[in-house]
Parts: sequence; C-alpha cells; structure tokens
Amino acid sequence: MRGRGRVYRPTSGHTGDKVAVWTLDFTIKDCRCGTCRDGRHRHATKLTVKRDAEDLLEQRRTDYLNGRYNAPPTPKTLRAYVEHHLAAKAKETDRYGQPITHQWLAAVKQHLTRAVEHFGSERLLGSITRADLLMWLSALARRFSGGAATSQLAVESVSARRGGRAHTDEPGDGFTAE
Ligand SMILES: [Zn+2]
Repeated sequence: MRGRGRVYRPTSGHTGDKVAVWTLDFTIKDCRCGTCRDGRHRHATKLTVKRDAEDLLEQRRTDYLNGRYNAPPTPKTLRAYVEHHLAAKAKETDRYGQPITHQWLAAVKQHLTRAVEHFGSERLLGSITRADLLMWLSALARRFSGGAATSQLAVESVSARRGGRAHTDEPGDGFTAE
C-alpha cells in the first residue's frame, strides 16, 4: 500500500454493520517494531470522529518512522495540550539560542490559561475552530493592551497543529520518509 495510510471503520462480524470506531491502516517500509508483517499496521482505536483518527494516524506514522513504537498519544484536550506545550516550551531556546525566560514563559502560560478558561479545559482540540480562536484573541485584545506578541504566540501554537493536519489532508501528497 502506498501513500500516507488510511482510516476505516471495520464491519462487525456479528451485525454486518460498520462499527462506530475507526481503525488505522498504514505501512512503514523496513519497519522494525517487531510486531508487524511487511511493515503493514492495522491499529484499532477508540476514536469515533474520523478527523481525530486521521490525526492519530499521522502522529503514529511519524512515530514509527522515527522508531518510537510506544509513544504516548498527543493530548486531546485543551488543558492537556497546554500542559504539554508549556513543558516543551520550557526546554526551548529563543531565536538567539538563549533559554526561554521565566518572564516570557509566564506570559505564555497566562495567555494559555485564559484560553483554557475561555474554551473549557476538557474541550477537545479538534473542536476549536480558527474562528473561535480569532474571536477569543480579539476579546483578549480588548481587555488587555500590549499583549499582541504573546497572543500571536498562542494562536500560532494552536494553529500550527491545525495547519499541519490541514496539509496532510491534501490528496496526492507523496509519501516520503523524513
Ligand atoms: Zn511495524
């Protein structure tokens, strides 16, 4: 099988109907996970939303290509994402190679915390649209002045993720192992 893989809903052997949850189907050339045959993987999920399954497919393919066979799933809720994002951010350096400052981190954290308050901590990331984000940012801008840089950072961190998915949805995007 070529391409980026696919998600499908298997047919139940009992009822003959399609089951509610999606299964991932992807092939990794020269896979060394030790459990597949010829690199073909079919992973059952508990996901009922196709877009979520496609997200997971993309993530799992990337993990397998990089030899991470037991990577934890990416956070699904906004709160989990914020915690994940802040932990990663704390390890980063800025464009000059300097560690991210506590002050900067605190500003990012404050904005993300406000996002969680606004959208709800258990809100699924996939359910937040770009329009939601823009509305939230303009509301934020009205309440606080001078926070443009960190607001921009917040929208970038969420939209980067969404942009990545939008890109992988494009058909005919050839499979390459990075
Ligand atoms: Zn494998």
